[in-house]
Amino acid sequence: MNGTNEINTDTQNIYKELEISEQVYHFSREILESLKARFDEIDKNAEYNQLKVIKAMQQNKVSEACLSGTTGYGYNDLGRETLEAVYASVFHAEDALVRPQITCGTHALALALMSNLRPGDELLSPAGKPYDTLEEVIGIRPSKGSLAEYGVSYKQIDLLADGSFDYDRIRNAVSEKTKLVTIQRSKGYQTRSTFSVKAIGELIAFVKAIKPDVICMVDNCYGEFVERIEPVEVGADMVVGSLIKNPGGGLAPIGGYIAGKKECVENAAYRLTSPGLGKEVGASLGVLRDFYHGLFLAPTVTASALKGAIFAANLYEKLGFKVIPNAVESRHDIIQAVEFGTPEGVIAFCKGIQAAAPVDSFVTPEPWDMPGYDSQVIMAAGAFVSGSSIELSADGPIKPPYAVYFQGGLTFEHARFGIMKSLQSLVNAGIVSLPPKIMSKKN
Ligand SMILES: *Cc1c(COP(=O)(O)O)cnc(C)c1O
Repeated sequence: MNGTNEINTDTQNIYKELEISEQVYHFSREILESLKARFDEIDKNAEYNQLKVIKAMQQNKVSEACLSGTTGYGYNDLGRETLEAVYASVFHAEDALVRPQITCGTHALALALMSNLRPGDELLSPAGKPYDTLEEVIGIRPSKGSLAEYGVSYKQIDLLADGSFDYDRIRNAVSEKTKLVTIQRSKGYQTRSTFSVKAIGELIAFVKAIKPDVICMVDNCYGEFVERIEPVEVGADMVVGSLIKNPGGGLAPIGGYIAGKKECVENAAYRLTSPGLGKEVGASLGVLRDFYHGLFLAPTVTASALKGAIFAANLYEKLGFKVIPNAVESRHDIIQAVEFGTPEGVIAFCKGIQAAAPVDSFVTPEPWDMPGYDSQVIMAAGAFVSGSSIELSADGPIKPPYAVYFQGGLTFEHARFGIMKSLQSLVNAGIVSLPPKIMSKKN
């Protein structure tokens, strides 16, 4: 037996100890073998983005002193100011606000909107319905403190049936009142495709040709570091996201960011803290080291999550399930949907993901009545940071088409194991039977 075989046997044995059957092991391996070229391309993007982050850290002279934080008012917080300069460089923006006081992605988006809109202004969404939680921010669903309550109106132009932008209706929707245009990069929980940065650039150019001074904001959640370019490079005035998704690299324990035009970022800072104070206050406490360290890891962590999504798409498509995006499509975010068509499929999948977790692997997820949803939802997450969805996680509403949405994986090895566990769980429940002939004779 040569060295390589011994290693493979070891690996196979430990998979076995973790209750992965030989059949699931071999089936997964066959799928992975076919993805080498695809993964190579992702590694090349990760290499580019890794260098982009290092370059930004070097140019902005990140020092050891930047890693420790301030308390109290947080005046002259070198680490915070340098980190914001690093984010500005990475996103090709004039300025950035990166704070633990921004509690989540929804908060970052609400902050960007509420600080840059004034009573009488209109917000336009030219690419259909925004993310669920923004419905209450905007006031699409009446809510305390919404933009609607403050006299900001809202217009939405849905995508055409083929998923493209409805340019004629967008042209008619832009008026004197239109102050800000919001574009969501990721599909979130919708069935449309995620927009490429290039497509976002075309939409921004179209809108700016009609009204050059309109502010174009991009909800960048789940999109960071998936491509080599980011939305500011194609004309966005602001990009907004969560640090417990891609740019936190799995290490940021909280936080959000807004990067873009100086004036837009300033407005957000005056709203986050107070008029007159803006960016000057806001102690960073003890989180800066994790913010820097996480951003440093973010390109390769995002690449791992992306590989996991592509692996799952190929594996489940081969087994006959509908997967969105499909096995060969180009990727613009890290979310993968798989349609099982039955509640049992969704539940078995989520149980498998949970069983693969480093934390809470022994708990069994169950569907529950989650506030704000019109059906029961099942969630699988065994994360180091609560609710972090750059870590391997899955959730599915218990309603047709019985699709599960999953994302993340701080390492590809974990994403791979999680997907193998999900398949094992479906096999054990009798929902999936593996084709015997695909089993490899080697090893
Ligand atoms: C996650 C997400 C949000 C909201 O972020 P939270 O941190 O969950 O509040 C907004 N938009 C998109 C596209 C997202 O994926």
